[in-house]
Amino acid sequence: MDKRTALIIVDVQNDFCKGGSLAVNEANDIIPLINRLRESPIFHKVILTRDWHPQTHGSFAANNPGQKLFTLFKLPDTGVDQMMWPTHCVQGTTGAKFHPELIVRSSDTIVSKGTYERIDSYSGFGSYPEVTDLERILRESQIERVYCVGLAYDYCVGSTAVDAAARNFETFLIRDATRSVSTESEQTMTARLNSVGVKIIHSEQLNIPSLKRGDSRSQYSPPIQNPVRKISAQVDEDERCFCIGGESTNNYDPYDHLPVSKEEDTEREGEFSAVGW
Ligand SMILES: [Zn+2]
Repeated sequence: MDKRTALIIVDVQNDFCKGGSLAVNEANDIIPLINRLRESPIFHKVILTRDWHPQTHGSFAANNPGQKLFTLFKLPDTGVDQMMWPTHCVQGTTGAKFHPELIVRSSDTIVSKGTYERIDSYSGFGSYPEVTDLERILRESQIERVYCVGLAYDYCVGSTAVDAAARNFETFLIRDATRSVSTESEQTMTARLNSVGVKIIHSEQLNIPSLKRGDSRSQYSPPIQNPVRKISAQVDEDERCFCIGGESTNNYDPYDHLPVSKEEDTEREGEFSAVGW
C-alpha cells in the first residue's frame, strides 16, 4: 500500500514574488509547475504555509534602528543572529496573501508561521518557542512522506524539509519547484539537506503523466479565468498562492517508491484531461 503523502507548498506569497518587498528571482516561474504538481493523485493532502508576521516583527530591518538590510544582527533580547529583511508578509496585507496565480482549494490546509514578534520561523514547523500546526496536521492525517516546494529553497523550503526529515517523515524536495534567494545560502542549504537525508529530486522523476518531458500537456497555458475563485469558494481570500524551481542535484530515483500501474496511469491521464491540463 502506498505511503500516505503530503505536498507542502511553502510561502508562495505576493511579497516573495515579482513586485513584492522580498521578491525571489524567478519566483513566478514556479507557480504553473506547482499548480500541476498539486493535482497529482499521489498527494493525499496539500498544505500551504505562509509567513504571517506582526508589523513589529524582529526580522524587519525597519524595526531594528541602524541595522542594514541583508546583514546578520544579534537580537539583544534573544541573542539570535537574525538576518535583517525588508518588511514583508505582514498579517492581513496584500503582500502576505498567496500569489493570485496559485491554485488553492477548500480542502487545503493553511499553516501560519513567524507569528511571534521576536522569533523568525523559516521552517513550516516553527522555530522554538513557536510551534505551528504542521506536525499535528501531518500526524493526524497519517502522513508518512512529504514533498516540499515553494519559496525560498535556501530558507523556508529547505528549513521545512530539514525539520520534516528530523521528525522522521520520508522527505523529498522538488528542486525545480523552488527558487533561491542567493547562491551562497543555496549551497549551505544543499549541504544541510544532504546531511539529514532529504531527497532532492526533479519533478520529472515523479511519475506524473502531465509533467513528463515532451508531453504536450506540460506546456502550461494560463486559464482564461483564474480558476481559484471557482474552485476554492470556501477558502478565505488570504489563502491563495503557489510556486516551482531548479535542477536535480542528486541521482535519487523515486520511481521505486512510487509504483504506478498502467491502469492507474491511464486513470490519472483521464483525470488530468478532465480538469483541462
Ligand atoms: Zn519572514
